[in-house]
Amino acid sequence: MSVLKSFDPASGALVWEGETADAATVDAALERAHAAFPAWAALPVAARVEAVERYKAVLETRKDAIAEVISRETGKPLWETRTELASMIGKVGISIAAQAERAGERQQDMPFGKAVLRHRPHGVMAVLGPFNFPGHLPNGHIVPALLAGNTVVFKPSEMTPATGQAMADAWVQAGLPEGVFQIVHGARATGEALVAGHIDGLLFTGSAGAGAHFRRIFADRPDVILALELGGNNPLVVWDGDLEEAASVVVQSSFITTGQRCSCARRLIVPDNDFGTALVDAVAALADRVTIGAWDETPEPWFGPLISAEAADAAKARFADLAQRGAAVIRAFEGVEGRSGAFVTPGILDVTGVDVPDEEIFAPIVQVTRVPDFDAAMAAANATRFGLSAGLVSGDDALWDRFVLESRAGVVNRNRPTTGAAGSMPFGGLGESGNHRPSAYYAADYCAYPVASFEAASAEGNSGALTGKLRG
Ligand code: NAD
Repeated sequence: MSVLKSFDPASGALVWEGETADAATVDAALERAHAAFPAWAALPVAARVEAVERYKAVLETRKDAIAEVISRETGKPLWETRTELASMIGKVGISIAAQAERAGERQQDMPFGKAVLRHRPHGVMAVLGPFNFPGHLPNGHIVPALLAGNTVVFKPSEMTPATGQAMADAWVQAGLPEGVFQIVHGARATGEALVAGHIDGLLFTGSAGAGAHFRRIFADRPDVILALELGGNNPLVVWDGDLEEAASVVVQSSFITTGQRCSCARRLIVPDNDFGTALVDAVAALADRVTIGAWDETPEPWFGPLISAEAADAAKARFADLAQRGAAVIRAFEGVEGRSGAFVTPGILDVTGVDVPDEEIFAPIVQVTRVPDFDAAMAAANATRFGLSAGLVSGDDALWDRFVLESRAGVVNRNRPTTGAAGSMPFGGLGESGNHRPSAYYAADYCAYPVASFEAASAEGNSGALTGKLRG
């Protein structure tokens, strides 16, 4: 058995230390989850609603403490982790509404009796969480999964075990029956053991590479429901409008959370004219003014470090590679003097005419492409194997009508950051960004399967259907 540790990326201080779950521990957790499933699934939904409401009440009392844990572990400023806690708390009511609306029970009268639609839980769900929203995103799978009657074994990101543990403690305090929700800690090997174990569903939020791996290993496993919420190489087209407002949309889209949001704009597409040039200048000028610092500093910074110095080094190598391929550096992507190796500044590159890889760089880096007309902008926006978010900044309704019609993405925003999303809407992507099982409001869909029934009180009347059609 090995030890897992997490660290504050700003200071290097140890945040959490605990045991890594090996394959035998994971299997034992899955066995307990299977044992707990029938009774949990058989409860009336109202009883499960009560349980998640109790969890919500615990989160409410602990919200400041958990926000601080997330800040310590990810480096995100408190203003941001407080909004993450608000989303987690809000998720409970949204999930209850979504469950009733999308996965409830309906019936209609039929001449023979009635037709009934019910939804049934799948069984034991494995949930694998990412580090960037280590509370909100796994919570977005766990709450609807439990509400639907599934049991859950959750492995948080190895970068954020303290956050996972704080969530697990909240479920314990909410008084769930034994085995209904369990946590296992560890890195990839623990995740692999969970995925290889006896599961009925894998609810995954993380990188496209890991998602593609899961698609392959579950390709011939129709018994396992797979919900994949993956990354993107998201386009933001800025076509016209007030320069400062437009630049603010770009900076918020590309650099918020130190670029560590799946919906961040990675590609900025502008017209190859004076407006495009002025816009890029305005973005660079605004990026100069972004405040960067540790989560516990006063005044609070707008963004903190990346998750680790290793992540910063990897992103710097990607930036250098783009420059080497011929991209022009508009704003350098580099470390921050006097800070830990995880801190970086926003980077901007002009990649017009340069052959660049269609990859997500999970850092505050935006690649600018200048295009001659809106046809070329549309083509550039869709020139990706991903399809998570896309945005248009323009006052022109006709351009927006075209953009929303032709964009191949699950989140398509106008004059708002690409990162704008709501729990009351679905959230998911096309292509390599997912597997057509959006989360957020639509999580109810993958947490239960529909069962349609024709029901008559007796078999009487069935023989009449054969009258005149039988021999002898
Ligand atoms: P990651 O894929 O490295 O890890 C996510 C989780 O999966 C972790 O718990 C990790 O231990 C586990 N894991 C990774 N590979 C595994 C394997 N082969 N077998 C078993 N378990 C495995 O992702 P990350 O770096 O933590 O998160 C950032 C990524 O998540 C980015 O690509 C981002 O775009 C994406 N993301 C997507 C959404 C969305 O809703 N679409 C939201 C947030 C983040």
